Order: sequence, then C-alpha cells, then structure tokens
Amino acid sequence: MLPIKGIRALSLIDYPKHLSAVLFLGGCNFKCPFCHNYDLAVYPEKMENLDENSVFSELERRKKILEAVVITGGEPLLYPEVIAFIAQIKKMGYLVKVDTNGYTPELLEKVIETGSVDFISMDIKTALETEKYSKAAGIKVDIEKIKQSIQILLKNQVEYEFRTTWISKFVSFEDILQICSFILPAQAYYIQQANEGLEEFQGPEIREIEKKSLIIKEKFKDFNLFIR
Ligand code: SF4
Repeated sequence: MLPIKGIRALSLIDYPKHLSAVLFLGGCNFKCPFCHNYDLAVYPEKMENLDENSVFSELERRKKILEAVVITGGEPLLYPEVIAFIAQIKKMGYLVKVDTNGYTPELLEKVIETGSVDFISMDIKTALETEKYSKAAGIKVDIEKIKQSIQILLKNQVEYEFRTTWISKFVSFEDILQICSFILPAQAYYIQQANEGLEEFQGPEIREIEKKSLIIKEKFKDFNLFIR
C-alpha cells in the first residue's frame, strides 16, 4: 500500500495552468537539511496512511472541479506501486504530475513509459558534483543517478521542468551555470527563490536572481529559463 500521508483538495499553483489536488507520499531517499516536509520525508511512520480507496473516492467526487492530480512527497518515485496508482488516476480522466528528486532513474523511466504521467517536475539541488550534491541532499549521493534522470527527461517523451531552489549555502552562481550547461536544451528550467525557512537556508533576493538570469540568457541563447 502506498504511504499516502495527506491530500490538498485544491491547488491553483502545483500543476501549471490547471486546478489540481495534491497527494503527499511519505518517505524520501534524501535528507535535505532545508526540507520543508522533513517529518513527512524522513519520519513517515509517525504519520498515519490515508486509505487509498477513500482517496480515489475523493478524487472521483471532485472530478467536476479539478483537472489534475499532483503526486509529491517526500519522494513519490520510491515505490514501484506508484505506477499502478498513477494509471488508476489517469483512467479517471485526470492529468497527472509527479514531483521527484530524480534519484530513482529506473522508476522514472518506467513511469514515463506507461504514458500515464503528463508532467514531471525534477529538482536539481545544486551542481552535478558528488560532494556538493551530497551536502545539499544530506546523504552520500551517486551523482550518476541524477544525471541519468536528467538524460531521461531530455528525451522529451513527457512534458517536464527542472528546478533549483537557490539556497546560498548549497548553490553558487557558478553551480547554476554548470547545471544550465548540463541540461541544455531543457524544456524548462526554473530558478526558485528560497524565501521560506531558516535564515541559514536563504538565498539571493529576487532582483539579484533576475540580474543573474540575464547573464545566463546571454551566455546560453534560447534557453528556457524562468524564475519563481
Ligand atoms: S528531496 Fe525533497 S522531500 Fe526529500 S528530503 Fe529533500 S526536500 Fe525533502
């Protein structure tokens, strides 16, 4: 059974241009020190699972209002059962988006191959270097797995975005440039302002990010770079 720990009945922002419900799966293979859902990610056993059938009934009931379902976490792609789960939601007529940290490329590839997922949003925590990435993810990272997931998405079999939250402690401008050069020509890359949480996990102001994005656009022509 999938560890569904929560449901947000209505979101205007989690699926681009569509009203969505958001499902939160517990557990994560990373332990990012800045995680906003740390208990959900690292101590999922502390939270009760929602009954899967009740979740489906709720989605069925809200079909007239909602267009999409976002599956987030924690890390949704920890669980092979997620494939059947997504297929069932898709069968109900919903668009499906999955948020992932990209650390299970095999499952990412399988999910895309089913054709049941419409949108993938993948975090790139920092530069694609073992030491830096491990610091940001809070575990010893095999950086090849992240690179593999990026390559899978670059095949364009599904709509996707990459996103980096610019936390100065873990991400420098040079790191952003390195990410850009690796993911080019991505469908979309979002630099996200770190505007929540503890002071030690803050990043540049939005105007500073805007200035830097102009430099990036100058360096990498026709790059689909956005800020949020
Ligand atoms: S990958 Fe996401 S959910 Fe997992 S620990 Fe990091 S921030 Fe939290």
